[in-house]
Amino acid sequence: MHDNDCLFCKIINGDIPSAKVYEDEYVFAFRDINPQAPVHILVVPKEHISCADEINETNSANVAKCFEAIAKIAKAEGLDKGYRVINNCGEYGGQTVMHLHFHIIGGTKLSEKVI
Ligand code: AMP
Ligand code: ZN
Repeated sequence: MHDNDCLFCKIINGDIPSAKVYEDEYVFAFRDINPQAPVHILVVPKEHISCADEINETNSANVAKCFEAIAKIAKAEGLDKGYRVINNCGEYGGQTVMHLHFHIIGGTKLSEKVI
């Protein structure tokens, strides 16, 4: 189940190249093309869910799988001192690609705290 016009669905399908760091049955992860820190990885469910607002009891297992992957990727990337996971949702949240994704930001001590 994917959206033909969605950039991240195209990346998951391999129609657009990416620097893949992790893949399993439910999750795909790749390096952000415009990194904001030494480590900046996007973790996406393979199922097209447009944003956090669209998570429901039918599809939420994909989100759990994303966070299982985040823990594995953080270990593989050596982020043992910590990192930040960010989700931007919708226009006011600054979301630019409408396929649910979690940013893993790390590799340095992060300073700019939003909350
Ligand atoms: P957001 O603003 O939360 O929707 O995040 C979208 C992210 O996707 C941004 O950080 C972009 O740099 C990143 N991005 C856009 N196009 C690509 C691409 N082709 N490959 C990797 N990352 C991308
Ligand atoms: Zn998509």
